[in-house]
Amino acid sequence: MKTIVVAAALLFSARSLPAESGTPADRILRRELSTSQAYDTLSELTDRIGPRLSGSAGAAAAVEWALRTFKSWSIDVHAEPVTVPHWVRGAEFATLPSHHDQKIVLTALGGSVATPRQGITAEVIEVHDFDQLVALGAENVRGKIVFYSAAMDMDLVRSGNAFKAYRDAVVYRSKGPSRAAELGAVASINRSVASASLRTPHTGGLKYDPKQPKIPGAAVAAEDAELLHRLLASGDTVTMHLVVTPQTLPDVVSANVVAEIRGDTRPDEVVLIGAHLDSWDLGTGAIDDGSGVANVMETMHLIKELGLTPHRTIRAVLYMNEENGGAGGKAYAERHKAELSKPVAAIESDSGAAAPTGFRTTVPAVALRALKQGLLPLASLGAADLTPTTDAGSDIAPLTETGVPGFGMAPDSRHYFDYHHTAADTLDKVDPKELAQESAAMAVLAWTLSEQPGYLPRIPTKREP
Ligand SMILES: [Zn+2]
Repeated sequence: MKTIVVAAALLFSARSLPAESGTPADRILRRELSTSQAYDTLSELTDRIGPRLSGSAGAAAAVEWALRTFKSWSIDVHAEPVTVPHWVRGAEFATLPSHHDQKIVLTALGGSVATPRQGITAEVIEVHDFDQLVALGAENVRGKIVFYSAAMDMDLVRSGNAFKAYRDAVVYRSKGPSRAAELGAVASINRSVASASLRTPHTGGLKYDPKQPKIPGAAVAAEDAELLHRLLASGDTVTMHLVVTPQTLPDVVSANVVAEIRGDTRPDEVVLIGAHLDSWDLGTGAIDDGSGVANVMETMHLIKELGLTPHRTIRAVLYMNEENGGAGGKAYAERHKAELSKPVAAIESDSGAAAPTGFRTTVPAVALRALKQGLLPLASLGAADLTPTTDAGSDIAPLTETGVPGFGMAPDSRHYFDYHHTAADTLDKVDPKELAQESAAMAVLAWTLSEQPGYLPRIPTKREP
């Protein structure tokens, strides 16, 4: 018995000794890479709570869970109310009466209005872009279902620029329905914005132009988009029967979850770290953005657990409603308007769970020398790059627009859009090791920013058109 106790004590000291040595960044890194804590947090959120679309029971449960979890780690936490939309998906299916009622796999876009209960049956016309739509004119579009067939540029995806490819293609999802409605279309469908597909349609928000009538919008799986394209390109007339029955219910009061570890010498200066707690309803939001939530919560957990006290305050914000409205990010900036000169930086993690390469930042390269030095411990993970951007993340955009220096986690993006906004966005897509690397990268960046004596320049970013 004695031998066992002694052996256990030796084992314990052998393990704990190295964790005490080295700089705080070294300790953060060593500790995080030796645990599965971030993954455990993520699995609680995705498996036990599940989908978390704004206004849903899952979203409310996620807020309660985050509050409870921070408290269990003895970290100060509170909820800040946010009013969010409450859109619920209904039935959704489509067939091709012109082609033996073949089934078309699709999903309604978030915010879409419903078709009449009996559905819409109309001819499908394909356009590759808005120029083609305009060239067709109202006489060819009226009464039809407009099909936007643009795909993600896979060369961009493969070369590590998946977010650029996404931005190029996503305009047909967000603006397609109103542009089609302007010319009299009865519904709008787009090829799913996807870098891979096993006939998984990708949802996402649409933005209605208040000047146009609202028509239903849906995303078809890539395979179904290819089928429609082949039929139409061969000269066939294609008719579609489309039923989508989502509803927009009254707004709901939800919350951002805000936790902080107060700084000892500069408590009024704040390093913000954030991710969004809501997710789309189809999957369980593991990569979008459960992994970001895990990065943020784990950063706080690590700093607390290692007994580190930062000079500046490190504040975590789990934003609500990034996916279909962005109310959480706006509410945080509005509520903290009087202290917008206080955040020395805002970090966001909302680009998936994969090996980190570093961060995108709104800070010009010339002003990053000291910070780069602080991030050197991340070089061993290949996660020390700082690349320029004007968009460090959508929840922190209301902050970076006022000049708060922004940082966005930049993981390998090559497979993010394989699963993004689909039923396949589930825990099994996340590698625990890569998630730990991301969490370590966020913690080291947050720590470095909290300890740096100087300040980064405040250069406001411009609002996306
Ligand atoms: Zn997201």
